[in-house]
Amino acid sequence: KIARLDINQADFNHHLDGLLAWEGVSDKAVNERVEEIIAAVRARGDAAVVDYTARFDALDVASMADLTLDRARLELALERITSEQRQALEVAAERVRIYHEHQRQESWRYTEADGTVLGQQITPLDRVGLYVPGGKASYPSSVLMNAIPAKVAGVPEVVMVVPTPRGEINELVLAAACLAGVDRVFTVGGAQAVAALAYGTESIPGVDKIVGPGNIYVATAKRAVFGKVGIDMIAGPSEILVICDGQTDPDWIAMDLFSQAEHDEDAQSILLSPDAGFLDAVEASLNKLLSSLERSDMVRISLESRGALIKVDSLEQACELSNRIAPEHLELSVADPDAMLAQIRHAGAIFMGRFTPEALGDYCAGPNHVLPTSGTARFSSPLGVYDFQKRSSVIFCSPEGASELGKTASVLARGESLTAHARSAEYRIKP
Ligand code: NAD
Repeated sequence: KIARLDINQADFNHHLDGLLAWEGVSDKAVNERVEEIIAAVRARGDAAVVDYTARFDALDVASMADLTLDRARLELALERITSEQRQALEVAAERVRIYHEHQRQESWRYTEADGTVLGQQITPLDRVGLYVPGGKASYPSSVLMNAIPAKVAGVPEVVMVVPTPRGEINELVLAAACLAGVDRVFTVGGAQAVAALAYGTESIPGVDKIVGPGNIYVATAKRAVFGKVGIDMIAGPSEILVICDGQTDPDWIAMDLFSQAEHDEDAQSILLSPDAGFLDAVEASLNKLLSSLERSDMVRISLESRGALIKVDSLEQACELSNRIAPEHLELSVADPDAMLAQIRHAGAIFMGRFTPEALGDYCAGPNHVLPTSGTARFSSPLGVYDFQKRSSVIFCSPEGASELGKTASVLARGESLTAHARSAEYRIKP
């Protein structure tokens, strides 16, 4: 049974805190194992990666060459999937590309009266590594969402790693990699793949940033190599919060809540509505539809442990509560979502109106589906082109500009007792 709460009940805050509590797992044994794997990959390169792949993925090969797929192999995958699948991937890839092209940042500069020029130069990262989880969690849509923004940013080389336990290759994932412009794929996974991307081996090139989700070994390894390379984020379980005025078909809302719960037993689905009768109707729909899902066991655990139907007094109050939760996905299933949008301050992605379920955003609407979880939407944003571009400050001083600025710099430098700074500036002051 899913929790029923009322914002006016005395212990509401206590219940809400319990519902939202989620600790990123940090496990000492896993940390030690990951440190060991990283050290081995740094010391022995390809040989260590090949050994770990035999041990953890039951895939015994002679050398890294057998774990390397080039563009020709990715193009073959595109031939092997059904034409319906290919068409769907192409539609999704194109829409994601067009959306992200709007995010491209441009360099800028301005010139002062004395000829001094100040600006910002935008450049892409040189090389990016994309981690794609193996087995059941291998999502072609995630390949598109991670690789396309990098390519739109102008990253010349995107390499991908994906474990293939017992040599089982997911052709859809490779086909997505092909469409997204991935340059090379290595069929390795876990901490050894992350270590190889961070430090480079004979065969796997060291990258500048590693993006993409994975299990605890992957997340722990990403945290460990952060600093040597950039990383995207350490994502928690997925979440949806739906605000409904009570006028949407309760079956639709039930299915939207399920769509999050079927990701993970720890996933979170919450509904806010001022209409108590509507909450009853959605609860009835949940009970009616649950058994029709392939992953009904997982959905049941997720809804019972972390789900809630919450009665609020008004839609304004729903927005306030939503801002407190800062959900990854927020659906505004109301008559006039535009009127509510201005009240929303913290959410990863906002789905407007009754005809915009999160599922469309997950696959093909265009915006990125890699979003801040666990309340981090308070201070962070969806994955995007920005994550694959850097800014360099650009400064040009004319002789007149240097002379003027030199006086200011000299005073400040002498105040800090940095004599060389002061004299370096003073040399350029006109007598
Ligand atoms: P994975 O690719 O993340 O991990 C597989 C690798 O884990 C193996 O190759 C192996 O190297 C390593 N490993 C497994 N057991 C090990 C051990 N005992 N010691 C050392 N290394 C070991 O694939 P997975 O395990 O199927 O997990 C997928 C994960 O990705 C799930 O946790 C899922 O929640 C997550 N995921 C998250 C999102 C998201 O958006 N947040 C999306 C998709 C998947």
